[in-house]
Amino acid sequence: MLQQRTLKSLTRAVGVGIHSGQRVELTLRPAAPDTGIVFRRVDLNTPVDIPVRTDTVCDTRMATTISPNGDPGGPKVQTIEHLLSACAGLGLDNLYVDINADEVPILDGSAASFVYLLQSAGIELQKEPKKFLRVKKTVEVRQGEGKRLMWARLAPHHGYTLSFEIEFDNPAVSATGQQYVFDMGSGQYKREIARARTFGMTSDIELMRSRGLTLGGSMDNAIVVDDYRVLNADGLRYDDEFVKHKILDAIGDMQVVGHPLLAAYTSFKGGHALNNKLLRALLADETAYDYVTFEDEAKAPQGFAKLAPAW
Ligand SMILES: [Zn+2]
Repeated sequence: MLQQRTLKSLTRAVGVGIHSGQRVELTLRPAAPDTGIVFRRVDLNTPVDIPVRTDTVCDTRMATTISPNGDPGGPKVQTIEHLLSACAGLGLDNLYVDINADEVPILDGSAASFVYLLQSAGIELQKEPKKFLRVKKTVEVRQGEGKRLMWARLAPHHGYTLSFEIEFDNPAVSATGQQYVFDMGSGQYKREIARARTFGMTSDIELMRSRGLTLGGSMDNAIVVDDYRVLNADGLRYDDEFVKHKILDAIGDMQVVGHPLLAAYTSFKGGHALNNKLLRALLADETAYDYVTFEDEAKAPQGFAKLAPAW
């Protein structure tokens, strides 16, 4: 049987929020089967639990942000996508995340530090079967037209693949690979995806700073690109780090649905907003999906039974 997973022991991280610039402490703790991933704001007078679900997402402009019942005025946790991507990469189903601020620390701008933290705490197999959300009908969402067109799609697939294409009008980005396909069953998440960092253009960064955003951003936690080149002294971690980061984000954004997917995800220039819209469109059509477990591991997609602590 493919079993649910949580952590063996608790682990802590300290860092800064990329948007708030605030110092943040995180404690990641084991959780019972069928808990899902739940953030707990422990800095509030009465701690508030915010479960990660498609309908608790309340803002997708700069990052994926959740609040209880998706209420934009409620207590929130922003920039959850890189941590969720690491959880998906390690096949973690159940986890409590105690946090003392409203933003997950950015650490090195990728999911690699979260993978390291979670692996150090150890992965525990639980008694309940792991529940997958199986996509049965193709669902697609689109936005914009012409040069501004972007779309994202989930199609039926016995496995979980993500295909992404970006198109940046910037020589430093367009000189790198702009299309990538990743198979979650390959066991290569940690090596091929987790280390890809978030990125920003100097022109956008100045604008965002003037609005009080990305206050914690620096070349220690992001790739910074001007009109012509990558400014980080050590260059890129992967030749196609930009598109790989978009796949890392998509894995985190899709994990918001609360279960690993059985689907082929494809996106052209999408982002957090379109990813959430895609999940909402999927969940709005009850005939488009169901939930499955694998009592017989041989019936699971190739590589899924080993999605492993070894990742
Ligand atoms: Zn990201």
